[in-house]
Amino acid sequence: MPVSHGDGSVNVVMLGPPGAGKGTQAERLARRRQLPKISTGDILRDAVTAGTELGRIAKATMDAGNLLSDDVMIGIVGERLNRPDATGGFVLDGFPRTVGQATALDHMVDGRGPLVVLDIVVPEEVLVRRLATRRICGQCGVNASVEWTGACQKCGGELIARIDDGVEIVRERLKIYRRQTEPLVDYYSVRPTFRSIDGNQPPDIVTRQVDDALLDACRRSAAL
Ligand SMILES: [Zn+2]
Repeated sequence: MPVSHGDGSVNVVMLGPPGAGKGTQAERLARRRQLPKISTGDILRDAVTAGTELGRIAKATMDAGNLLSDDVMIGIVGERLNRPDATGGFVLDGFPRTVGQATALDHMVDGRGPLVVLDIVVPEEVLVRRLATRRICGQCGVNASVEWTGACQKCGGELIARIDDGVEIVRERLKIYRRQTEPLVDYYSVRPTFRSIDGNQPPDIVTRQVDDALLDACRRSAAL
């Protein structure tokens, strides 16, 4: 059931390293609040499929093996946030990644209600353990939930270890994430609408704390 959050829209940014469960929590939050969950991966795929100008730039850049610039990412997310389903709020997953992107996002949501930033925090050793043992379905490719003990619960396929998840690779990914997003957390953490959430707990407990943090942050912002 959707939770009432008073008047106006609520715009949520979910932060968290790979393996923190951010995607799952973003999805649950979006469903409960009846907001679109907007992930940069999905936007890019959509923009490329739709053949927008930005989509074409993105495809050419990625095909050449290069990372997308802040400008391209900002343009693509800006387009998405202006679609009608996002004007009443959204849950962003995977954007912003840099302070430049965060500054641009502030301009995009100007006059559209509070921007609540939820940072899911998990100790590095726990992330390494989670990521290095992550499994996917060998048949449909879906990420296996940690609770799945037998076969894939989507298609019944066999679960296999992800080949790219060696411990050294995992540590490197986490290092890159930290380097990239520490300035972002500094940028947001001074705000009354920023909340850290302990992600080293069962997913349902994290979900409840995400709800509480969001309500609390909205209340704080309404009181300003
Ligand atoms: Zn499957």
